[in-house]
Amino acid sequence: MSIESTVSLKRLYIETVGCQMNVLDSEMVVASLRKDGYSITQDPKEADTILFNTCSVREHAEEKAYHNLFHLKQLKLKHPEKIIGVIGCMAQKDQRAIFERVPYVDLVVGPGQLQQIPSLLKRISAGEGKQMAVSLDRKEGSADEIKRSHETFDPLRDPEMRPSPGQAYIRIQIGCDKFCTYCIVPLTRGPEQGRSPSHIVAEAKVLADQGCKEITLLGQTVNSYRYREAGKVTRLSDLLVELNEVEGIERIKFVTNYPKDMTRDLLEAVRDLPKCSPYFHVPAQSGSDAVLKRMKRGYTTADYYEMMDRIREIIPLATVASDFIVGFCGETEEEFQGTMELVRRCRFKNSFIFQYSERAGTKGAEIYPDDVPAAVKKRRNQDLLQVQDAICLEDNLPFLGRTVEVLVEGPSKWSMRRHEEGPAIQMTGRTRCDRIVVWNGNSRQAGHLLNVHVDDVSAFTLLGSVETFEAMPDLFQLSMTQSQR
Ligand code: SAH
Ligand code: SF4
Repeated sequence: MSIESTVSLKRLYIETVGCQMNVLDSEMVVASLRKDGYSITQDPKEADTILFNTCSVREHAEEKAYHNLFHLKQLKLKHPEKIIGVIGCMAQKDQRAIFERVPYVDLVVGPGQLQQIPSLLKRISAGEGKQMAVSLDRKEGSADEIKRSHETFDPLRDPEMRPSPGQAYIRIQIGCDKFCTYCIVPLTRGPEQGRSPSHIVAEAKVLADQGCKEITLLGQTVNSYRYREAGKVTRLSDLLVELNEVEGIERIKFVTNYPKDMTRDLLEAVRDLPKCSPYFHVPAQSGSDAVLKRMKRGYTTADYYEMMDRIREIIPLATVASDFIVGFCGETEEEFQGTMELVRRCRFKNSFIFQYSERAGTKGAEIYPDDVPAAVKKRRNQDLLQVQDAICLEDNLPFLGRTVEVLVEGPSKWSMRRHEEGPAIQMTGRTRCDRIVVWNGNSRQAGHLLNVHVDDVSAFTLLGSVETFEAMPDLFQLSMTQSQR
């Protein structure tokens, strides 16, 4: 018998869409399946198990997932032994309906039950039929029972699954209790729960040992993080102090922030701790008080402007990014102009702009009609993007001729699309303030910190060349005028 036939040779194909939480979940699923003898393949046709890690935030993402599943029909007909699974938020939301809509799906697992995947796959292989593991609905049990059913599993980390060798995500909080009226996340990911600081710090040490230089702490409202233990409350600012001590970690980021919880203690921690990146992703969602109220966001535009002033006062050179939903129920032209004004005034480093997508099960879907026509949503999306892009370009221009410190992520998407190889390929990385930089380099640079001289800029990127001499540490030393309003 050959050596190969004595070990399990199962192959896994996994496709991930959605937020950073999903990227991290997939890394953990892969780590647990590798322990069971799986290897990864990039080709679904070669795989024994095909998993789709899905997103439910907008309808478009779900339709794409179903489209991908329908595409597998021929493959499954020819190879009925292949296991097809839907995991993540759409699995939690649609549950058994997935088996009805796509009868050849074998496995449905919600984001709070991913630790069960290895045993469920064994059951399917043993002929026990379709398997499903989902968490309790938010009204299906006591608060504790619901929380426990959403707990994610032990942090098995798999460096090979990470998009970039020098960077990793750490979950510090799961779920969300904000219940913004448009949002499905509190239903798919369950109640907000902070993770123990000792577990988080231990995980950061494991990641540093694996060669990771940058950690990004994840939570739906990450700056609302609280952990109570033995009468002591740990806030995000306290956690940052502990993480700043971890040897080998050089940059710490955290996403996504909730405007109301961008407190002074947190901003001062970021200012005073050398490893914390002066970059904040704090979605505003709208620049109209009436819309914010219908969204149940819990703050007004005045609160948001006040928060921006606080950030500028404490960390003058910090960059801020935002998310916006255009065309939310009942949004008038005047209300939309409020959003345009907010973007002009706040000068975000970048904004993610989404057209409102009604989600069944949310309060918004129940009480407000989705009445802004698709064409109007599209136009508002374009208008807002245009304003944001102009700001991006204006704020990138002062970097021309400067040198920035970059953490190298790897080959750029452009070079991957062109299958570039060889001594010089286009590489990409980010500055401490999260600006994207590209240059001609080589893949050995991935995971390292480099000084890059900026030769050209666009709205989205700084284009540069690698400095061969020791230069100023990074853009954070740029003068005030360059990144301010
Ligand atoms: N927890 C994060 C965001 C999670 S969802 C936060 O609160 O900031 C990511 C983004 O998707 C949101 O910021 C919002 O802009 C967008 N989004 C959420 N629900 C949406 C919906 N129903 N339609 C369109 N965009 C939506
Ligand atoms: Fe969704 Fe609001 Fe929670 Fe963010 S804060 S995950 S937008 S409910």
